[in-house]
Amino acid sequence: MKLSHSRIQFIQSCLKKQKYYDGLIDGIIGPKTQKAVEVFQQNNKINVTAEFDETTFSKLEWLMKGYDIFKVNSQNVLYEYANKNGITAHDIIISNPKVNPFLLTENENIIVPNTNSIVPTDINYTYEILEENIESLKTLYPFIQVDIIGTSVDYRNIYRIRIGEGENKVSYNASHHANEWITTPLLMSWLEKFLRVYTLRGSIKGYSTEEIWKNSTIDIIPMVNPDGVELVVNGLENITVNRDQILEWNNYSEDFSLWKANINGVDLNRNYDAGFYEYKEIEEDFGAFGPGPAMFAGPYPGSEPESRAMIELTRSNNYRLVLAFHTQGQVIFWDYRGLQPEESYDIALTFSDVTGYALDSPDLSQSFAGYKDWFIKEFRRPGYTIEVGSGVNPLPMTQFPLIYENNEELLLLASII
Ligand SMILES: [Zn+2]
Repeated sequence: MKLSHSRIQFIQSCLKKQKYYDGLIDGIIGPKTQKAVEVFQQNNKINVTAEFDETTFSKLEWLMKGYDIFKVNSQNVLYEYANKNGITAHDIIISNPKVNPFLLTENENIIVPNTNSIVPTDINYTYEILEENIESLKTLYPFIQVDIIGTSVDYRNIYRIRIGEGENKVSYNASHHANEWITTPLLMSWLEKFLRVYTLRGSIKGYSTEEIWKNSTIDIIPMVNPDGVELVVNGLENITVNRDQILEWNNYSEDFSLWKANINGVDLNRNYDAGFYEYKEIEEDFGAFGPGPAMFAGPYPGSEPESRAMIELTRSNNYRLVLAFHTQGQVIFWDYRGLQPEESYDIALTFSDVTGYALDSPDLSQSFAGYKDWFIKEFRRPGYTIEVGSGVNPLPMTQFPLIYENNEELLLLASII
């Protein structure tokens, strides 16, 4: 079976989580990976070949998905499925709201979660993984709401995942900037943990997930710029639009690690109607002479399908607060030309407290046409840009644990503050 490099990495990551593998996550099938596959095959009572044959791969896929589907037979009862998979009957009931747990019907398919957490946090996170993870979360936690709020230039979906049913509506978005994609697994793994704990009616860092669910609605837009992320992580391989131009805009280099824009070469976080035309006047001072990897604002505000989707989403929801996740510097930007409400600063101080990130006011290069700027300008409500991590973009996944730790409480708190 032919598997792509990133697919093998995903499998290695999964085998590592399940303690089958302790080698490097390098996308290469070496002796350690083969050994891991062998033990995996033994444990799952499939033909031991140490190779990725169809049967092995589909078993692995179920593991990566976080659940299996079983056909009920007359001898089975729910807790047996649970026992076999190291979970509780309650877990199964959550994922099968339409199934009567006391009366399983023969030949009925039931979803049985496994103990694997699904969002990988040690490999480059791609659009493909995002789609798989969303599909899994929807299956495991059918009470969440998933919508497509728009499509990118290259027809990838821009997803919105909604949790909670309270009046306090907030929204969190990530990956406006392509090479800041580490912000996507941040939101996704927070979401996965939240959902898991919520089904147990538990708390995270002292925050009751049940209370949050009742009082708040959280809209998560995990990847605003899916084409850009695809370009940064996998290069041009899966890009179907503007291929020649993209290469030219990138000075004919196939290394896209500096790419922030969408694949029209427009910097989405310079494409909102907040100081837009002012910025256009001085755009060249920032090195943007036209479409390119970063800093080009586009022809007019909202010219791009990705920013337009965000504008429409934001206008049609009465968000009390928004968080826009970026990377670099471990700072929080909280104001916009004095247009933010009084409370913005106090909230920012609390956010600074829980993240350990410093507060910052934008310097010239930051104060134009960004999403949070536009949100503050248009709605006069608290909006924040959270710059996670530090180093060179794209930040390596080795920074992920710290980034997650810094932001876990912020993501809870922002929904109720
Ligand atoms: Zn950014």
